[in-house]
Amino acid sequence: MAVGVIPLSEWVKSYDCSAITIAVVASHSSLQILHGARQEGFRTLGICVGEERRKMYSAFPGAEPDEWLVLDDYKQLMDYAEYLRERNVIMIPHGSLVEYLGPKLFQELEVPTFGNRNILEWEGSRERQRIWLESGGCEMPKVIDDPKDIDGPVIVKYAGAKGGRGYFVARNFRDFRRNVDLEEEFTIQEYVLGTRYYFQFFFDPIPDDGYQVEGMGNHSNQSLGRLELMSIDRRDEANVDEFYKLGSLRDLRDMGLEPSFVVTGNTPAVLRESLLPQAFKLGEGAVAASMELEGGGKGMIGPFCLETIVTDQLEFRVFEVSARIVAGSNVAIGGSPYSDINEPGISTGQRVSRCIKKAIEKDRLLEVLS
Ligand code: AMP
Repeated sequence: MAVGVIPLSEWVKSYDCSAITIAVVASHSSLQILHGARQEGFRTLGICVGEERRKMYSAFPGAEPDEWLVLDDYKQLMDYAEYLRERNVIMIPHGSLVEYLGPKLFQELEVPTFGNRNILEWEGSRERQRIWLESGGCEMPKVIDDPKDIDGPVIVKYAGAKGGRGYFVARNFRDFRRNVDLEEEFTIQEYVLGTRYYFQFFFDPIPDDGYQVEGMGNHSNQSLGRLELMSIDRRDEANVDEFYKLGSLRDLRDMGLEPSFVVTGNTPAVLRESLLPQAFKLGEGAVAASMELEGGGKGMIGPFCLETIVTDQLEFRVFEVSARIVAGSNVAIGGSPYSDINEPGISTGQRVSRCIKKAIEKDRLLEVLS
């Protein structure tokens, strides 16, 4: 069943909103989601495959789910939709859920889900991300269509590559030819030299205070809701982060080594404060533009991440958007220098449950679910 015809309002009508259960696949950013849900007074349910996963959660009693659903395969989740709805479940999606189910099944999952599943159509392809972000005023790295036109450093990215696996840097066509896997679909992007910052924003359509996102297009002159900066991180990437220690790129190639971009973890970051207004402008543009996307429905709701590089001219390039909680927000499970200003210790996971709780109080739950 396509998302558009899922009778979300029917399901939610039958929910006992005083007994909501927050459910999440036990992976990715689930510790903060489970911990945050409990902080907000919700019951929690962890979903996993195999018993082994559960053990790790016993090391974190503050996040250990009240209940587990143990499956043989994540795709079985599709058969448990009714079981979950009977427990008044709201699913919190993250990258692993979408990866394990695949985008199609994720969209068809018949369980009320936090955020907007329609936005996936726009997040899932690099071309569509570009249309979305550029229409929101974000400048992106140039794309090189013909490898023969490479005349400076580029990064070659494979479609669907997980965590940067297989990406490589090329300086010219020779480099490209030597490294490329022509069996795979790839994009060639200008390699932007600068410092990387990954912004974890939260957009809440309900409050009418704080940093209000101004609408564009069909929503011109409207305030759409509140944009918050939860935290900033930088990804640790093997082996590119450490390559400089071994000499120049030429030395490395003599040793038969190529830089790789496999994400292994994250570190917290703060941005030069005078750049924050620009960062907010990018977040605001991304949200405002999301409301104008054809088929994008309610646009961006909840946590999202803009992956950026700031050049030495102090200009931002946005190279990717994630339209849900990202694992980089785990650097701020106990709060961040930014979120702490507004409320000490609040994580993005807790912010999600807070949004749900406030929406219930205001009888506006449907607005933040899909
Ligand atoms: P992505 O899969 O687009 O998130 O990229 C993975 C990693 O590759 C990023 O975290 C960056 O370190 C690097 N990267 C991606 N795009 C660019 C770019 N245009 N210029 C420089 N580095 C990039």
